[in-house]
Amino acid sequence: MPRKRLTHLKARRAIIDAARRMNALGLNHGTSGNVGFRVGERFLVTPSGLDYDAMTPADIVEMDFDGSHRGTRRPTSEWRFHRDILAARPDVDAVLHSHAVHCTALAVHGMEIPAVHYMVAAAGGTTIRCAPYRTPTTQALSDVALPALKDRKACLLQNHGVIVLGETPDACVNLLVEVEYLAELYCRTLAIGAATGKEPNVILSRKMAEVLDFMKTYGKQPDPDSPEA
Ligand code: 13P
Ligand code: ZN
Repeated sequence: MPRKRLTHLKARRAIIDAARRMNALGLNHGTSGNVGFRVGERFLVTPSGLDYDAMTPADIVEMDFDGSHRGTRRPTSEWRFHRDILAARPDVDAVLHSHAVHCTALAVHGMEIPAVHYMVAAAGGTTIRCAPYRTPTTQALSDVALPALKDRKACLLQNHGVIVLGETPDACVNLLVEVEYLAELYCRTLAIGAATGKEPNVILSRKMAEVLDFMKTYGKQPDPDSPEA
């Protein structure tokens, strides 16, 4: 019998590339974490518990927003938050979850990342929040992740990890690089603080408002094909 042609091949490849890149960069390990990407009226997710290096486009699972899926593999056990985030956030098309170690270390303490560095604004606000602990894979976890992501493209998950959002899986990895940097930086400043008795300085909200303003265009180059370039 001829094999059915795979749909959304480019999107499937983008998901696998992002999953491999997050592991190669040391921002996740093993089969932890997962990636989701909107395709039209549906979305694609990584399969549950499969090695990213061995994963092929046919292993990626296509899902409907009612939770049903097609294909031979079971979807990520965290498909609920992928679905709910993509449904609630038309401003993003990709969701990535990892167990990045510094993000998770802060999340073990239930700590958010304050404005210890202006790049906190890359996630959309003056802090990166931490959602309270809920059992992994449950609707309850999705229900606390959503408000923690309000007006943000990243949040920590208490005693668990981190979620980042973006236009593409690749953009999610880029943001994860920044968020894990911020988390490591904050961990180090807390260690210095513990040794010296000095609290790290946090950038004032009104100063962060200036940052949030310039971040609208920061690091963006004009499109060379656009007439305004
Ligand atoms: P999956 O392999 O089912 O995606 O689970 C990984 C994970 O990080 C669960 O929180
Ligand atoms: Zn997880």
